[in-house]
Amino acid sequence: MQTQTHSTKKIIWLNLVFFAVTTLAALIGCPWYLAHYDLSTLDTGLFLFYVAATGMGITAGYHRLFAHTTYKANGLIRFLFLFFGAAAFEQSALRWSSQHRDHHRYVDTDRDPYSIKKGFWYAHIGWLVFWKHPFHFENALDLQKDPMIMHQDRYYGVWAVTAGILTPVLIGACFGQALSAFLFAVCLRLTFVYHATFCINSVCHMFGKATYDVDATAKDHWLVALITFGEGYHNFHHKFPVDYRNGVRWFDFDPSKWLIRIISHLGMAWDLKRTSRFRILEARLAGENLSTRHSLTNSGANSLMVKPLEQLALQHARVCETLAHWEEAVRSYRALVRGQMAAHSEELKTAAAQKISEAQRVFQEAYERWSRLIQYHPLQLREILLSAAAA
Ligand SMILES: [Zn+2]
Ligand SMILES: [Zn+2]
Repeated sequence: MQTQTHSTKKIIWLNLVFFAVTTLAALIGCPWYLAHYDLSTLDTGLFLFYVAATGMGITAGYHRLFAHTTYKANGLIRFLFLFFGAAAFEQSALRWSSQHRDHHRYVDTDRDPYSIKKGFWYAHIGWLVFWKHPFHFENALDLQKDPMIMHQDRYYGVWAVTAGILTPVLIGACFGQALSAFLFAVCLRLTFVYHATFCINSVCHMFGKATYDVDATAKDHWLVALITFGEGYHNFHHKFPVDYRNGVRWFDFDPSKWLIRIISHLGMAWDLKRTSRFRILEARLAGENLSTRHSLTNSGANSLMVKPLEQLALQHARVCETLAHWEEAVRSYRALVRGQMAAHSEELKTAAAQKISEAQRVFQEAYERWSRLIQYHPLQLREILLSAAAA
């Protein structure tokens, strides 16, 4: 039997009806409820808790733990992510992860289940409602070894309805507020988390900044990061998908990264994968170099750009060199520590540590000069590079 490799156009009625009912209930039911009743603390709390728990069930759980295995976690954490991930009604973890691995592997091609090349609305929601996609579970053999993941996949309907509908409605019912729990913690919450998640595939593959991979359709978008618990740094994520962080700088809004770190401090997660800061800086510099080259070549005749482009390449190479020296200083220090040299080890270690500080300072100065340079308007930059070449 031949395996189907491409998606086919077909209305998925279950998804269509489910989206329609929950969206209509949220858009009509919630305002109607607010017009007749006051919202209790329980309603607000349950809604916010379910937004956070199911949102991060998808981001820290389905995405970073299962699809990309960016860290390892114990049984309790895996269960909680499977439970709240199912409550988000975005398929089983196995199916979600398998499709997501295809998205990364075949990005922007026909085999990408939510390819942005098929348009904004296709990538946002159309792929779920009007298309049937083949599954290639051979890309998720590791996940198939986990009995809990397989149970969630086999009995997905039971998991999803229990976690996503029955639990919040029962909690509400205990306080006489089953209806508001259904409207807010189920319907409104589902609608919000759906479209927030969908924005990653649509907005983040069309709008925003391409800092680390200029040619990728994946972009970093701060607003999407705000509503998706940190998943909006999608350019970084496509460049370094096995990093447990999406917002890599300390000030980037990435609550999923903070949650993973808290869980690891509690001893329930470990082996958090981080990309070396040198690889990240290298990618950032390469991205800045390429986009500056693009803007220079787009600003004038190619023949007038030969010398400025050569000079730009030289400036880029110089910063990269200072970065390489800094990395080398770190490597030497680590080798020294590993070697545990007996004689004069403290003096040698202090000297090696000083070399790191010095190399880091030199890089930072070079990077500041580079950053100032690439800020110029292309025509002004062209003149600056020409005079630097003549000097
Ligand atoms: Zn993507
Ligand atoms: Zn991913």
